[in-house]
Amino acid sequence: MRFPIKRFFSYYKPYLPLFMAVLACALAVSAATLAYPLLVRYVTKDVLTGDLSAALPRVYFAGGLMLALALLQNAANYFADYKGHEVGARMERDMRGELFAHLQTLSFGFYDKEKTGKLMSRITNDLLLVSELYHHGPEDYVKYAARFIGAFAILFAIDMRLTIAVFCFLPVMGVLSLYFNKRLNAAMNRNKDRIGDINAQVEDSLGGIRVVQSFANEAVETGKFNRENDRFLASRKHTYKAEALFYNSFETIIQLISVTVIVFGSASIVRGELDLADLITFLLYVGFMVEPIQQLTHMSTQLQEGVTGFQRFVELMNVEPAVANAPDARMLADIRGDVEFRRVTFRYEPRLKPVLAGLSLRVRPGEFVALVGPSGAGKTTLCSLIPRFYDVESGEVLLDGTDVRRLELTSLRSSVGVVQQDVYLFAGTVMENIRYGKPDAGDDEIVAAAKRANAHDFIMSLPDGYGSEIGQRGVKLSGGQKQRLSIARVFLKNPPVLIFDEATSALDNESESIVKDSLEKLAKGRTTIVIAHRLSTIRGADRIVVLTEDGIAEEGRHDALLKRDGAYAQLYAKQFEYQS
Ligand code: ADP
Ligand code: MG
Repeated sequence: MRFPIKRFFSYYKPYLPLFMAVLACALAVSAATLAYPLLVRYVTKDVLTGDLSAALPRVYFAGGLMLALALLQNAANYFADYKGHEVGARMERDMRGELFAHLQTLSFGFYDKEKTGKLMSRITNDLLLVSELYHHGPEDYVKYAARFIGAFAILFAIDMRLTIAVFCFLPVMGVLSLYFNKRLNAAMNRNKDRIGDINAQVEDSLGGIRVVQSFANEAVETGKFNRENDRFLASRKHTYKAEALFYNSFETIIQLISVTVIVFGSASIVRGELDLADLITFLLYVGFMVEPIQQLTHMSTQLQEGVTGFQRFVELMNVEPAVANAPDARMLADIRGDVEFRRVTFRYEPRLKPVLAGLSLRVRPGEFVALVGPSGAGKTTLCSLIPRFYDVESGEVLLDGTDVRRLELTSLRSSVGVVQQDVYLFAGTVMENIRYGKPDAGDDEIVAAAKRANAHDFIMSLPDGYGSEIGQRGVKLSGGQKQRLSIARVFLKNPPVLIFDEATSALDNESESIVKDSLEKLAKGRTTIVIAHRLSTIRGADRIVVLTEDGIAEEGRHDALLKRDGAYAQLYAKQFEYQS
């Protein structure tokens, strides 16, 4: 991918004045740093080697200037440091917000493929690296370029030949710096991988600790862990070796430069071409010229990581939601709940065989339809086309006679309620979780919904009632209890079309009958599609539709289907066998 340079810089826009001020301060710091040795030179050369009787006041004057310079430098540095980091952090916040909002719009198909862990690291680590580059990038380049050029000019003015001698060392340092940059980066990446392996091992072994202990395989797991642990150590040793080698070979060259300057400088003094003050000044400035080269390693890592981070960010931002509002999308009003599939073909991946091929089915307003059939037949898939979790490949899904792709998404989805087998509850209280179905619902309304969902009694028996925290740090709920909370949510949402996808399949008989009772209350007066695993639960349906991999095999009422002695009767008999 070509680096999107315009987009990269566009994030500076809101903070441009502040950022320019930061850059100006960084320049001021460099100027002050460069001026300092000049004052040392003034004292050692002009004051102390001239008429000493008038020297003291001039020393005080120079001292005052040095102090002022130091204050100015540190004040400017304070501003550049503080506000520079702040600008970077603000840009990072902006990008992170933008990315998160974008991720909210991406469709089911995207999340089928992407791992949450990866997305998390994009949102946190990658953007941290980008903000480092945003802030330090331009600032460092300005700062070090100014220092390098300034120091070089001053050195050149003091002693041309000595400057050229020093200059000869710089390419060597540059090459060294870039070589180690590569090596150190590779080492760091290896370290990261190794940490990842360790984390994965911990997750696996501790996540499955109950299995580990029941097979008495603790030693096996510890053995696996120790292998990863040792590999991490080996990788760390490598890194430290490279680091130490880099640091010390650099120091050696710097010392070589010092020695060169002292020896050749002293020789020049002996020849009368240079004085001591010049030599001292020279030595002070050499450091400024070397420092930027030394920083090359760090800066190029920063650049690489920031650029990669930004590219990854853009890559994600450029993913278009597969399901989105059409430009002429219509809002829905007064839905009757007439659902129709017209010759619908759908597949998850373009290369796979279609899950649904030319399927047609109509569910009339208020009808209660049960969808049954072998697992993998496409029941869940079929239902997920109604609220447009996915779009059809060909054919149409219609709600009240309008293609769902022409309906405004939010209004479409608010008219379809889905109750699934796996209930997702968010961190927060019971009250907040039910309110998810209707954010502006009052407490009374929530309690009423909970009562209709047969959830009120168990909620009241929780330690803090409706205020009880659920999820990781809160109370644990049983499958049936969670299911009833999710039904309460849908009661609040009050949609004209309902989908129950194996909502009771994982429940024991007793919770099943409670949940079933609340489901029946919820279904009253709405178009309802129930996907059921246990056929006993849907005997009373207005219509039973048997879906197999080849499409709809048969449909009708329970008794009629049994009489036909076809697919349904077979499914029914099979289940009866299992149960007895
Ligand atoms: P059912 O609900 O009848 O058990 P599904 O609709 O869940 O069946 O699945 C139908 C087929 O589609 C299965 O072969 C399943 O493996 C496949 N499938 C389901 N969900 C996905 C998905 N998100 N990505 C790819 N294939 C899927
Ligand atoms: Mg299913």
